[in-house]
Amino acid sequence: MEDNTENLDNLSNAESAGKADERFETIIGLETHVELSTKTKMFCGCRLSFGEKPNSNTCPVCLGHPGSLPVVNKKAVEYAMKIALALNCRINEYTIFHRKNYFYPDMTKNYQISQFDIPIGVGGFVDVNMGDYVRRVGITRVHMEEDAGKLVHSGTTGRISEADYSIGDFNRAGTPLIEIVTEPEIKSPLEAKQYMITLRNILLYLDVSDCSMEEGSLRCDANISVKLKGSDKLGTRAEIKNLNSFKFIQKALEYEVGRQISLINSGKKVIQQTRHYDDKTQSTKALRSKEEAHDYRYFPDPDLVPININESWIKEVRDSIPELPNQKEQRYNDKFGLSDYDSSLLASDFEISCYFEKALASYDSNAKGICNWLMGDFSAFLNKDQISINESKIKPEHLAGLVKLIDDGKISSKIAKSVFEEMYLKGTDPNEIIKEKGLEQISDEHELESIIKEVINNNPDAVNQYKSGKVKAIGFLVGQVMQKTKGKANPTLVNEIIIKKLS
Ligand code: ADP
Ligand code: MG
Ligand code: ZN
Repeated sequence: MEDNTENLDNLSNAESAGKADERFETIIGLETHVELSTKTKMFCGCRLSFGEKPNSNTCPVCLGHPGSLPVVNKKAVEYAMKIALALNCRINEYTIFHRKNYFYPDMTKNYQISQFDIPIGVGGFVDVNMGDYVRRVGITRVHMEEDAGKLVHSGTTGRISEADYSIGDFNRAGTPLIEIVTEPEIKSPLEAKQYMITLRNILLYLDVSDCSMEEGSLRCDANISVKLKGSDKLGTRAEIKNLNSFKFIQKALEYEVGRQISLINSGKKVIQQTRHYDDKTQSTKALRSKEEAHDYRYFPDPDLVPININESWIKEVRDSIPELPNQKEQRYNDKFGLSDYDSSLLASDFEISCYFEKALASYDSNAKGICNWLMGDFSAFLNKDQISINESKIKPEHLAGLVKLIDDGKISSKIAKSVFEEMYLKGTDPNEIIKEKGLEQISDEHELESIIKEVINNNPDAVNQYKSGKVKAIGFLVGQVMQKTKGKANPTLVNEIIIKKLS
């Protein structure tokens, strides 16, 4: 068989994107790995760690010494159950571990303990909100396994190809890992990205992982194929390994769609293989063909007993599942009267929804007001600085305080914008800012009246226009008052007083 993929490997992005072809349909299935945030590892008592002294959290079990015996971490099983249940899976009441045999220096046992034909959860789904439609993605399986160690390659680049030697750090070896496999039901790179965002959000709600894509606690392999529209036979897939950002997932898959369609259009075949995405070239490259990599000689691990999960254990775990994003969305809708749109935006980001609820806890009379800041100026500032809400200096109670100041008529919404900016930069309490800068809205009628008198005297033209029926002229007069007070006058009150004086 001829491998004719390679000559098309380095298609430029423009070329591949240009080849996107209406006659084809994209099919994607994702395999996501999540490192659990249990205190200890999957089969031993070693502490989980990240960024600590190499090999400081290891023992004979996670180093794979002969004769050492693994023991299942009950907490990890419960976390796996939580995930499976939250993804609407059925829990297998009898579940076992297999050995997946292969050699790699980051895994000293020469096999990984994983699950094979009886995973802990099967047959679930996730609803992915795409804005104008919802894509229901089937979850084939949720299974438990262990992470491998890490190789640290010498040299400045950290690449194996440029290293004289590599050293093994086994702190990560044995970290509980959950794999979540979807049905081939995702229909576009954008849906794939949105699925990952939705899944990450659910996992954060469940509090089972820190889901840090940068640190590798959440990563995904994306399988993708194209087929002619209407055909019920799936095309040959490529698997892109270890995508660790939402952006890369979408970009890598977009590149792949173009590459596969180009191949087919030029009479060639897509071959089943594992590929790697390189963001520098924004393209994928072949790593190995799937067939040769694939015989893992799975067999049940004789060192581990099967796990029996009875109804009452399932119920106990089910009851411990917190409110999930779709339930939260419903509650925001019902309890705070927020629109579907607002509720879904708030609930679809775990950090933002926590922040929102903290803000509400200190001022609960204007959920919509708080929501508007979160979705408007606040989001814009965070986007600009590329930081998350938890990294911002503004405390939730201070945001609530700002909304209260507006609601109480103490500051105008225009002044609020500049107060917000100050809060964002320094993290100061808005009450302090307005006191310190004398920004409090002037609602004192006497104080306003003297300013208004002056404005009326200085602007006879506008006054005459108003008196001769040009109602709009009042806007000019109000504007003058606002200018004189540096935006601090209460505009509604100013309006009332001027009308009274001129009638
Ligand atoms: P493996 O373990 O060899 O990677 P699986 O059968 O477990 O294979 O499938 C892995 C993933 O690939 C699943 O998410 C599945 O939905 C997806 N998949 C399978 N066939 C295709 C295909 N033809 N096109 C796109 N995705 C596919
Ligand atoms: Mg796979
Ligand atoms: Zn250990």
